[in-house]
Amino acid sequence: MKVPGFGLSDKALRTREQPISYLMAAAVGNPDLISLAAGLVDYESLPIEVSHSLSGQILQDAKAGRIALQYGTTPGLKQLREALLAHLCKMEECEAADLGLTADNCVVTAGSQQALYIISDLLVNPGDIVITSAPTYFVYTGTLSSLGAEVLTVPMDDSGMRTDLLEELLEDLERTGRLDRVKIIYEVSYYQNPSGLSLSTERREHMVRLARRFSKHHRILVIDDAAYRELRYDGPTWPGIKRFDPENRFTATCMTFSKPFAAGYKTGYAFLPDDLVDPFLQQKGNHDFGSCNFAQHLIHRALNDGTYQTHVEKVRAAYRLKRDAMVDALAECMGDLRDEVSWTRPSGGLYVWLTLPECIDTGRDQWLFGRCLEKGVLYVPGAYCYASDPAPINRIRLSYGVVDPTSIREGVRRLAAAVREALQHDPATGRGGAARSQPTA
Ligand code: PMP
Repeated sequence: MKVPGFGLSDKALRTREQPISYLMAAAVGNPDLISLAAGLVDYESLPIEVSHSLSGQILQDAKAGRIALQYGTTPGLKQLREALLAHLCKMEECEAADLGLTADNCVVTAGSQQALYIISDLLVNPGDIVITSAPTYFVYTGTLSSLGAEVLTVPMDDSGMRTDLLEELLEDLERTGRLDRVKIIYEVSYYQNPSGLSLSTERREHMVRLARRFSKHHRILVIDDAAYRELRYDGPTWPGIKRFDPENRFTATCMTFSKPFAAGYKTGYAFLPDDLVDPFLQQKGNHDFGSCNFAQHLIHRALNDGTYQTHVEKVRAAYRLKRDAMVDALAECMGDLRDEVSWTRPSGGLYVWLTLPECIDTGRDQWLFGRCLEKGVLYVPGAYCYASDPAPINRIRLSYGVVDPTSIREGVRRLAAAVREALQHDPATGRGGAARSQPTA
């Protein structure tokens, strides 16, 4: 008897495989491959001793151990949420009242991805509009597709999303009667995944001003995804977007311990406007009714006794070396192509954004990607980072997160060799014909 398939929900049918799953699988399948694609964090600096000591402290006291090994609450450990608020205020150099926040505006989540998911699920019906910069973080746009959102994009430059163009877009949506569908403006405001670029202070202020001005049918929420805020190596600092929303009405800030501490704790947190907190907790109640309690107790101790802050310094130093290894290797291996090839020099975060000549298609089914696999290096095709068509085909996201400096240099050397071949391949034009005409997959 033929067994029929399951009647998958509309949401399941809208959900695509995350591109990163394929890229991760490719990396696992070939141990000699240097993956400049994975967004994994540095192995060497993971807090082994700190975790050993803090978990020991919790477990050597039977009472503390039992509390930490029991279920926690849906919003998360109160003392941790208070410490997180103090942590944010320290970064902002202000009082909690200046941000319109108390610890009750803070929810601890299973990574900041859960916060992004739940906030979006709370606000977005199929057909609603979410505005992101182009490019943007592709896991989040995958979430938006599964929620049925229409993602509209605004170009960015070296100072992040072009808020002048955001203003034009919002004006246009109002003129054409679609403003009522706009629910969220999303920005990775520090050392963006994928470009490594940050939003300027003026644009942070402008973004909030626009959310306020265009909140005519309902409030438009600015999501400040500040996942990389603490991974600063040099260069300027910027206030959080919430700094420009002193009454805490138009902004949600999402942060995480995955990058500055340990991804394995999968613990993040969000600061929400008052009237989003209860709806958020109700949804989180359906997800998991509380994030990992043990991790929260451990992280609380780390924040309280200063080991977290010491650890972040260590992580920053490790990534600074890797960032330097990558940009130095790019300069060495492709410096002579500077007229045709450019890349960002991030002052924090984990990513470098590489722009090749327009004739080179970096897509997964294209010549360059296949040639790089043959040579043993993996990158993220930039087109994944564009939520709306047409996506530029000639960009690449490189990550220096997980690979050691020697392998970063070798990976860049392999990539540069493949790019040179792509540039020389087409006998007709002398340029990148092979990049388009010989699909490999
Ligand atoms: N936001 C951005 C921009 C990210 O790059 C990531 C992880 N790659 C996340 C959010 C989510 O990370 P986590 O859930 O581990 O906090």
